[in-house]
Amino acid sequence: MTAILIKNCSSIITGDAKQPRSDAAAIRIRGGLIVEMGDLLPQPDETQIDARDCVIYPGWVNTHHHLFQSLLKGEPQGLNLSLGGWLAATPYRFRGAFDEHIFRLAARIGLVELVRSGCTTIADHHYLYWPDMPFDGAAILFDEAEKLGVRFVLCRGGATQSRGLESTTARALQPESFDAIMCDVERLVMQYHQRDPFALRRVAMAPTTTLHSTTPQELRESARLARQLGIRLHSHLSETVDYLDAAKAKFGMSPLQFCAEHDWIGSDVWFAHLVKLLPEEIQLLGAAGSGIAHCPQSNARLGSGIADVVALQHAGVKISIGVDGAASNEAADMQSEAHAAWQLQRVRKGMLAQPRYKGGTFEGGGDAVTVEEIIRWGTAGGAQILDIKTGVIAPGYAADMAIYRLDDPRYFGLHDSAIGPVACGGRASLKALICNGAIIVEEDAIPSVDLAELAHAANQAVRTLQQRAG
Ligand code: ZN
Repeated sequence: MTAILIKNCSSIITGDAKQPRSDAAAIRIRGGLIVEMGDLLPQPDETQIDARDCVIYPGWVNTHHHLFQSLLKGEPQGLNLSLGGWLAATPYRFRGAFDEHIFRLAARIGLVELVRSGCTTIADHHYLYWPDMPFDGAAILFDEAEKLGVRFVLCRGGATQSRGLESTTARALQPESFDAIMCDVERLVMQYHQRDPFALRRVAMAPTTTLHSTTPQELRESARLARQLGIRLHSHLSETVDYLDAAKAKFGMSPLQFCAEHDWIGSDVWFAHLVKLLPEEIQLLGAAGSGIAHCPQSNARLGSGIADVVALQHAGVKISIGVDGAASNEAADMQSEAHAAWQLQRVRKGMLAQPRYKGGTFEGGGDAVTVEEIIRWGTAGGAQILDIKTGVIAPGYAADMAIYRLDDPRYFGLHDSAIGPVACGGRASLKALICNGAIIVEEDAIPSVDLAELAHAANQAVRTLQQRAG
């Protein structure tokens, strides 16, 4: 592995809660780890990176995605619908139109977009499965992630119950058998799951939804198997008010209570969204030490609402950020997502402001969350949820970090350049992106990727998908 010295550092946000910024002038990387920080002299075998005028963050950790959707951005039939209608109009209508080539291309596009935003760890909630699946999506995802040099967590989704959504090919809506899913999870764990704290590959148990994808008995059994295998548990939950209605109608309880009664709660569980929670659900999640993949852009795009992340954090819930699939987030990169998270928590609090004559106690939400907190959610928070020793710039952690150069006018005039990549929005270009101690982006280019070629292939694939889905 390369020995690297990052020198002339002027702005480091660490991802650490106690010491969110570091004034170290240099960072030494060896054997895939950060080994030393401070005033350091270069050693003869070291590759040197000059970080003058740059801003350094830990590599982002994206805890919820559906990479196959990277070729379904802005799909017109689903563009102006809320979650239920959108699911039928876009991801489910197109799911049978994916073949191996188009699936691989979608995964590559999504991963490249994330990498270019400074992301080094990606958890993909992969639910594109049906009986006699003609290609091995998991193998393709791990392969594409490895080619780019990022850490990858496959959240093995799927369903044993049909939801009555649409598709152009009925075959693609056929549920799998519970045994088939559990056998596949065991196979994936044997083949890919690394247990060490600096893992590059992990697997998680991830039925697509806890309420609709399996029977309650199967749900409990999936939790038992996950814990027996020593893997984490992930699913969608409480994305819209429909979850509250469905849980009440089907089971006579709240969505989270249903999960808790089927062993789907605990410090090894994280849920995407958690937008619509009852106060007692927030307390239950916090007491259990479960986590959230907060997906503000997808929630905003689908008009679902915005999770009360500040309250969740206060209750003890572990906080992370996910981009969700690009079919409901046309900017599925971590800088955009962090920017949205920073603004929308402030909007959320501001919406609750009342005049003083009605008992109001505050003017607005400007103090809801800081940029440093957002960065911590999107880096160390995600790493804690995935149980990987990354997301913090400090000796002993994985050498995963983004070195941004703020060379766009959008960043000119900043009084504190460190906040630029989150506060200004847009995409700050990369001087370098380092993952596992290797330089995977250099001067804003990924050596193995031709962006013009990728754009051409994407246009062709979109036309093919449209033809196939009618
Ligand atoms: Zn999702």
